[in-house]
Amino acid sequence: MKLSKNHYVIDENQPHIIPADHPDRQILRQLVNVCPAGLYQLNPDGSLSFDYHGCLECGSCRLLCDEKTLARWRYPAAGYGVTFRFG
Ligand code: SF4
Repeated sequence: MKLSKNHYVIDENQPHIIPADHPDRQILRQLVNVCPAGLYQLNPDGSLSFDYHGCLECGSCRLLCDEKTLARWRYPAAGYGVTFRFG
């Protein structure tokens, strides 16, 4: 799949995924590996960078962890999110 062909409508006021303040480091490493869009990044100091703007809404990160790691996970509100474009 070519992600650049997708169309995103971003809700800048309400992120649909919010990492928790002090997530487990081991699970963070798994998040970095599981996200097909590469939205989770571990910084050299061990902190997490996350950008929900390119989310594919696959749910992999939600399945991997609970609210101790992701304080919020929900689908974007109606009219927002990803539209997949193939071909
Ligand atoms: S739902 Fe999928 S694409 Fe979106 S942040 Fe989680 S793993 Fe990445």
